[in-house]
Amino acid sequence: MDYYSSQITKLIEELGKLPGIGNKTAQRLAFHIINMPQDQVSRLAGAITEAKANVRYCKECFTLTDKEICPICSSDKRDHQTIMVVENTRDLAAYEKTGKYDGVYHVLHGAISPMLGIGPADIKLKELMQRLQGDVKEVIIATNSSLEGETTAMYLSKLIKPTGIRVSRIASGVPVGGDLEYIDEVTLLRALEGRVEL
Ligand code: ZN
Repeated sequence: MDYYSSQITKLIEELGKLPGIGNKTAQRLAFHIINMPQDQVSRLAGAITEAKANVRYCKECFTLTDKEICPICSSDKRDHQTIMVVENTRDLAAYEKTGKYDGVYHVLHGAISPMLGIGPADIKLKELMQRLQGDVKEVIIATNSSLEGETTAMYLSKLIKPTGIRVSRIASGVPVGGDLEYIDEVTLLRALEGRVEL
């Protein structure tokens, strides 16, 4: 039954496809949007289309950015010899929020998961190995402490060790299976400071 006009139904359907948005929330958002002033709706719609059109991977670290090289990679205030490897851009943002890490990053865009059929070639691993041919002193592996994150960390350390570059893993103060972005800054800092060499 289509109680609403088909355009409202369409809006509810599209919003409902977003992660974490159930049908009730989708309805609430749809009605909220319809009651918003026209210019605010235009800004929201514009922000979505513009972000989609312009956001791409940084050529260095593969984080999402609207520049060819992201602000972190292009900053001369960062230590470019220390690379922290994270699973996604949200994890990078979590570490940036602490304001205490001054190295650069490498975003894998996933983790190795034999169960889901995600292998080393499906994440930005080759790109990391290419970066390591430059002047790099330490790689800090900050993948999640989930099975996939640990598998990836192990795989990475085996790959990097023969190069002579120091490899470390963030300390396990990070709850098992916990997504990095949900962990508070103090815990993240402790995990970073207490990292152990692999
Ligand atoms: Zn970058």
